[in-house]
Amino acid sequence: MATSGVTFGKKTLRDLKVERGMPVLVRVDFNVPLKDRRVTDDARIRAALRAIEQLREAGARLILCSHLGRPKGADPATSLAPVSERLSELIDHRVHQAPEVIGPEARRGASRLEPGEILVLENTRWESGETKNDPQLAAELAELAEAFVLDAFGSAHRAHASTVGVAQHLPSYAGPLLEKEVTTLRGVIEAPERPLVVVLGGAKVTDKVALIDRFLDMADALLIGGAMCFSFFRAQGVDIGNSLVEDAGVLLAQGALDKADESDCRLLLPVDLVAGDDFSEHATVRRLDGVEVAQGWMGLDIGPRTTERYAEEIGQAGTIFWNGPMGAFELEPFAAGTRGVAEAVASAPGYSVIGGGDSGAAIAQFGLADEVDWLSTGGGASLELLEGKELPGVEALDDAD
Ligand code: ADP
Ligand code: MG
Repeated sequence: MATSGVTFGKKTLRDLKVERGMPVLVRVDFNVPLKDRRVTDDARIRAALRAIEQLREAGARLILCSHLGRPKGADPATSLAPVSERLSELIDHRVHQAPEVIGPEARRGASRLEPGEILVLENTRWESGETKNDPQLAAELAELAEAFVLDAFGSAHRAHASTVGVAQHLPSYAGPLLEKEVTTLRGVIEAPERPLVVVLGGAKVTDKVALIDRFLDMADALLIGGAMCFSFFRAQGVDIGNSLVEDAGVLLAQGALDKADESDCRLLLPVDLVAGDDFSEHATVRRLDGVEVAQGWMGLDIGPRTTERYAEEIGQAGTIFWNGPMGAFELEPFAAGTRGVAEAVASAPGYSVIGGGDSGAAIAQFGLADEVDWLSTGGGASLELLEGKELPGVEALDDAD
């Protein structure tokens, strides 16, 4: 197990003695996709059920809060009402929805809860103080409850009023999802079963360069795919045609190539590609035997030889960490590389962890989400944790005795 030997260091839900009727504020991550006021992917809601069910069974009065999207002020399109409806279906019990984050209606709703009942506050970002970690907002949230549980891993890297601010006012505990996420991801870097094979893809090198640097220090193999590889190829002087590349990324890739020369970690780049003349479902598609891309074409997926090579590395790994798709997987002609890697990760005997974001969406799209050992609910938070940063939300919780 990748999580053995990792200590969490913070109070958890197991330390919270819930008295029947005790009001508990839980910061969850209900930042889910909506379409026509319906939740289209409820994975994050289901991931919060453990905390919710444990507290309900203990007879707590639950007040849940979360952000959803990036509204600037109260905006009905980002209301949590559709989330409350979905949660109600999942727990087969009524869920009350407050019309505001803080204020008289929220207070009244909280005070009327029976033991085991749930009130969902409105989108925390409807309050401008949320992202500024406004002390007044934090204090008003805290007034609703006698204890605070942070279970929103996907928001734990942000010092906001509902993650960090409120923890300063109440006894504060980590929920089971947060605890599992942090110990699992720290386990990947602190105590991995070897070999540790890391697969990185996606669009932006600049977002992930800290991760590349860190894994060159501690992984056994680093497999690069996605648009990220073109920064490496340009740094090597290979023609990349019209492939997606960032100028800043090329310098960073050069740095990584230099570091890889001295490192014990093997850095693998694609050996073949699939190119298109357009970023579109209807593009003309060309299989390239190598990695040189002609003008007018862009590399949009890794090729079959690369996929096979990467799958072999993944199959031999003791621990696998994957973040970022291998190509433009949303477009069917360029999905094969990501699908092949997803299948390899799903069937690998090693302990497999996926870093959320688009790679999480990809593995779900291929119906393989249940086949991996851990699919993180947090994109940005998982990257920051792996980079070795402390998450402010976790820091703010009470220390374990
Ligand atoms: P994650 O969310 O998993 O961290 P990113 O957000 O970094 O991943 O990247 C995902 C995006 O990268 C996807 O929308 C995908 O279409 C795009 N992408 C991957 N490979 C390529 C490529 N070769 N050219 C253009 N876009 C790509
Ligand atoms: Mg992304």
